[in-house]
Amino acid sequence: MTKHIFVTGGVISSLGKGITAASVAMLLRNRGYRVRMQKLDPYLNVDPGTMSPYQHGEVYVTDDGAETDLDLGHYERFAGITCQKSSNYTTGRIYSTVINRERQGGYLGGTVQVIPHITNEIKAAISSLDADDVDIAITEIGGTAGDIESLPFLEAIRQYKVEAGPQNVLFMHLTYVPYIKAAGEMKTKPSQQSVGILRGIGIIPDMLVCRCEKHMAEEHLEKLSLFCNVHKDMVIEEKDVANNVYEVPVDLANQKVDAKVLQFLGLPERTLDISDWEQMLKKAIEPQSGTVEIAVVGKYMSLQDAYKSIYEALIHSGIANDVKVKVRRVEAEDMEKEGAAKFLEGVDGILVPGGFGDRGVDGKIEAVKYARENKIPFLGICLGMQCVVIEFARNVCKLTDANSAEFDAATKNNVIDLMEDQKSITAKGGTMRLGSYPCTLKEGTNSAKAYGEIDIAERHRHRYEFNSKFADVLQENGLTISGTSPDGGLVEIVEIEDHPWFTACQYHPEFKSTPLKANPLFRDFVKASLDNKK
Ligand code: GLN
Repeated sequence: MTKHIFVTGGVISSLGKGITAASVAMLLRNRGYRVRMQKLDPYLNVDPGTMSPYQHGEVYVTDDGAETDLDLGHYERFAGITCQKSSNYTTGRIYSTVINRERQGGYLGGTVQVIPHITNEIKAAISSLDADDVDIAITEIGGTAGDIESLPFLEAIRQYKVEAGPQNVLFMHLTYVPYIKAAGEMKTKPSQQSVGILRGIGIIPDMLVCRCEKHMAEEHLEKLSLFCNVHKDMVIEEKDVANNVYEVPVDLANQKVDAKVLQFLGLPERTLDISDWEQMLKKAIEPQSGTVEIAVVGKYMSLQDAYKSIYEALIHSGIANDVKVKVRRVEAEDMEKEGAAKFLEGVDGILVPGGFGDRGVDGKIEAVKYARENKIPFLGICLGMQCVVIEFARNVCKLTDANSAEFDAATKNNVIDLMEDQKSITAKGGTMRLGSYPCTLKEGTNSAKAYGEIDIAERHRHRYEFNSKFADVLQENGLTISGTSPDGGLVEIVEIEDHPWFTACQYHPEFKSTPLKANPLFRDFVKASLDNKK
């Protein structure tokens, strides 16, 4: 039988519920348990695929092609879990299932209501994680206790525990214990009130995880235990880590959180060995090869979360190369006005990430040109690859009006064009080329050297694609096609040979990078940047 852990949040948002849930999952997996994870998001979008990064940060793509919340990236990076469509449900997704069923006559004669129909659908989403090969399912509930829109989810997990039995379900509540500088004191009252809100709807946390900036004193732990109705052993301190989020699992392991969870669920403790993780952390915190500076040229540079997986993959690649990666965030639009050199001077490598719409594209193309001409290691991702093809066509092949059909539908030199099977699609949600696709690499290229094999699979999220009509002219002028779909029909990677390291891929290599195993393209890009620096 699959046991369940539900992670809720209180007091404020942005406490790192995803990182906490992922850290617990990592520790439980290390103890030999088979774990699955899921995030339930209370907003009405069916999935975050249609949301701007300004609203939601990065859209994380799974192997099976779901456009999901970025917390799923934490689940995969920390716990090495492969997420699926069933790993992310929103209110919108739950409601559309129920409403579609109602239209089909599925509730004929009945009044369709939030309770029981919506809550039953939420419970079905949770149960979709149950399987013979799943020991523990961890479900994170988005939002904060007290939000109106979270209520059906909280009611569903309350019922879940009643039905599954108290020893089979653990409620973990993540809360915040602020330090009030003026008073020189830590305050437990917001946590007491947050637990009070949960208690009012019938949920009593089994474990309280307290985010804080400073160590909590014994007196705080006792107070929280007594007034939140949680045994003192189950009140956990999760203080800000000193250097790196990957320290969180170690911090939780030191407090035996995983062992306590297992004991609560009636499962044997087994052994924990996180020495490889600790070794990785040591390299992350004290790299031996100094610093390498990488410019990321995008259009959401002020947002920490917009390119989340890219920044993480750079950190992983730093670990793999024993070097600290310093990111210089460059707004593509700024370069349109003032030129690339001003912003890119002195960097060791340049990365142009994915994106949609024409804002900032000319700046990204400038960045490509600067990297190509100045022989600075370069990695282009998705739109970044499309910018490479446009730049190369314009400035090397002299097709001066070359463009993507996304930005200029009328150009004759549409070196990037809408994919054939996208032409009849009008709906926006979930309709791109999404998820994992195989790719065959050309021997001897940067890509084949990086992956160490020629058959790979990576995740995609795009509508436009390299236009094969231009393959000959681009190759004659020195662009290498180093990766294609196995049938050769779609170009997935391009490179420039007369350059220290210049590679651009149509897929998103960042999604499969983990701290223990950096994505090969990212790893070699950072290595080339380090060599360039030397
Ligand atoms: N806008 C481009 C396309 O749809 C690139 C997408 C991306 O970078 N994810 O093909």
